Amino acid sequence: MDEANGQHRKEGAVERLRRARRSMTPARRSVIETMAELPQPFTAGELCDAVATRFPGVGRASVFRTLALLEHLGAVQRVHTGGRESYVLCELTAHHHHLICTRCGRTEEIQLGLDQQLESAAASRGYTHQQHVVEIFGLCPDCQAAGEAERSWPAGPATAGKGAPPASSS
Ligand SMILES: [Zn+2]
Ligand SMILES: [Zn+2]
Ligand SMILES: [Zn+2]
Repeated sequence: MDEANGQHRKEGAVERLRRARRSMTPARRSVIETMAELPQPFTAGELCDAVATRFPGVGRASVFRTLALLEHLGAVQRVHTGGRESYVLCELTAHHHHLICTRCGRTEEIQLGLDQQLESAAASRGYTHQQHVVEIFGLCPDCQAAGEAERSWPAGPATAGKGAPPASSS
């Protein structure tokens, strides 16, 4: 994990707590520090395990309470990767979305120009207090490069098309 990124994420969360006038308890600090160092995104289970290793004095209940609080404050966002629910300790404090690699889980934070459209779509139907969740999934450039390498090596003999035709017994 990129150290500078981790530092940004941590500062963002600390700032959110401060603005919400929530105190920075030792347990909260431990959980935030651990989150910032984990590869993003992480599951609640991964976070609990990592906190237990680094800060044995911090119980699971504190981890879950801190996770819930940070999500409530918007410092942590839930993302859905490979059918599992994960969390990102966000770097951006403004409204944003996540671009997630379906293979390695790499997550980027991006701002999109479609928020206005989404809001007016709801407003034009008479809805207020609208929220939206937009996640974009794809294969990141690194995974594409790795995939190409896998496919081209070993460059086996060109046997394609020489085998028996697919059985079509009937
Ligand atoms: Zn984010
Ligand atoms: Zn990837
Ligand atoms: Zn949006």
